[in-house]
Amino acid sequence: MTAASSSLQHGRVVVVGSINMDMVSRSPRLPAPGETLVGESFAMAPGGKGANQAVAAARLGAQVSFVSRVGTQAYGAELLANLEREGIATEATARDAAALPGIAVIMVASDGGENSIVYVPGSNAQLSAADIDAAAATLRGARVVVAQLEVPQPAIARAFALAREAGATTILNAAPALALTPELRGQADWLVVNEGEAGLLSGLPVDTAAQLEAAAEALRAQGFAQVVITLGGEGLLLCAAGGISRLPAARVTALDTVGAGDTFVGGLATGLAEGMPPEQALRLGQAAAAVAVSRIGVQTAMPRRAELAAEFQ
Ligand code: ADP
Repeated sequence: MTAASSSLQHGRVVVVGSINMDMVSRSPRLPAPGETLVGESFAMAPGGKGANQAVAAARLGAQVSFVSRVGTQAYGAELLANLEREGIATEATARDAAALPGIAVIMVASDGGENSIVYVPGSNAQLSAADIDAAAATLRGARVVVAQLEVPQPAIARAFALAREAGATTILNAAPALALTPELRGQADWLVVNEGEAGLLSGLPVDTAAQLEAAAEALRAQGFAQVVITLGGEGLLLCAAGGISRLPAARVTALDTVGAGDTFVGGLATGLAEGMPPEQALRLGQAAAAVAVSRIGVQTAMPRRAELAAEFQ
């Protein structure tokens, strides 16, 4: 199969995960407790790791369905409309008229960029195994199913089990780094973590190259056939049946690295869903993430397939 024909396959990716509205104020500094400051600017941006990864995959050409639970109070309708504008199917996402969607209230200080965040999970915390069962037909039609840890683990475990029965590949992006429940362990073919998450999940130090490799081996022994540890501008480490390998990142001037991991995971899922060999799918994720970090924003920074190098067209 040539790279050119593979991109025309529109592999089917299902993302099971969170969706949030980020509400971001900028002020000269962060307020002290009890203090009111006059801010300089305010913006709202759709986010949540699940929604971000769905957008990343859709921009790269995957046929994406989003499985989640969205409170339709406040900004819920806007969040769904945003996904639909990206061509992402939301039929398998439960609507909850009694709930708020996830909302992150983010204060950023202009002097130095320090931030404080309050995250209210809202409907993300309510995603249940019953919601997943209602989305079973979508999950069974997937070639790749991706999940992160901003929604409850029983729902993810159920989704992975359904998808695997139907022959799909499953990717767990264990972010944020929460202890994995026994029912979720062993349900994912791929584990993707960044360096900090690798340390927390393995319980091992990750300061040297040798320690990183040991952490990757330890994570693989937890039941994942492929473990990827992403290393920001240093690229990534893959630990699989054939041993450990490293892939360097593209050299770019990074302007905003928030969301790099989400873009990478969306690209990996897209590549695998097109039937790419693992290393090529990893490189698609890296190429997309390199473009995203060279721009400001999270979803707004994610590239379309046509913006990537010729080898990915
Ligand atoms: P996270 O956002 O989850 O912390 P990383 O920062 O490890 O994830 O980034 C994920 C991937 O994005 C990396 O493996 C790399 O391919 C790409 N990436 C991140 N930062 C840069 C950078 N400064 N230059 C080039 N690529 C980057």
